[in-house]
Amino acid sequence: MKICKTPKEMQHFRATLSGSVGFVPTMGALHEGHIALIKRSVAENDHTIVSIFVNPTQFLEGEDLDAYPRKIEADLKICELAGVDALFLPTPLMMYENDELAIMAPKVKGFILEGASRPGHFDGVLQVVLKLFSITTPKRAYFGKKDAQQLFMIENMVKHLFLPIMIVPCEIVREPDGLALSSRNVYLSTTQRKDALLLSKSLKKATKLIIEGERDAVKIKTMMEEVLSPTKLEYVEIVDRAFNLLEKVETKDTIILVAARVGTTRLIDNMWV
Ligand code: AMP
Repeated sequence: MKICKTPKEMQHFRATLSGSVGFVPTMGALHEGHIALIKRSVAENDHTIVSIFVNPTQFLEGEDLDAYPRKIEADLKICELAGVDALFLPTPLMMYENDELAIMAPKVKGFILEGASRPGHFDGVLQVVLKLFSITTPKRAYFGKKDAQQLFMIENMVKHLFLPIMIVPCEIVREPDGLALSSRNVYLSTTQRKDALLLSKSLKKATKLIIEGERDAVKIKTMMEEVLSPTKLEYVEIVDRAFNLLEKVETKDTIILVAARVGTTRLIDNMWV
């Protein structure tokens, strides 16, 4: 497995690859969720590039940029075993200029839900993903449905900028009890982990209500909020696949999203109905 530490090195290596290239951008501390994306890319492409970059521009002031878990040795082994061709490990200095080009998330869909809780977050996400796409020029790029709004923002960017890249959405990988895997789960104490489980429990509750015939978004959200009451809830929302808020659930076109803090750890989860 080739390790590339600079954009130039990565671009040179990319130029030696013939056939299809799959790309999996990550912030590292790899878990089974990331591994599922990597394995899918390895299965569907002639070559796979994984990036590990804790991107400072998508963190807000006071967020966990410095504390974000870093496990580079373990990540390297995971990628090697999974059959990754190249690992791209840039530093912020190599990725950004002083007077940097501004990339802005769309004014409406980029500033609701995650964008409202974390203003500017999606500007940073789109900025880094566009740079990573330019460096790796993949045929396909793999993203988790876990970050549903991020996935939507990136699909939109690719569409708006006519980028010749196929975005492949991948299912959420969960612990056996339902907790969505996240690099941030390592912050949770044993008792906090129990409360963290309430996010997926609230989504299961919503699914049960929908199966029973409930379609009213307010009623579903109220029941979910009850389940989530021990957490510091940021939002529960029901949207269609284009992130328009819904009053009534439309099956096969709905995403139910939740964001909450457990202790100081901010967690998100969602369910595609
Ligand atoms: P991150 O390292 O958190 O930036 O995530 C890198 C990619 O992995 C993103 O596309 C995430 O949506 C995806 N991902 C993170 N957690 C999961 C999970 N539990 N299941 C599926 N994909 C995930």
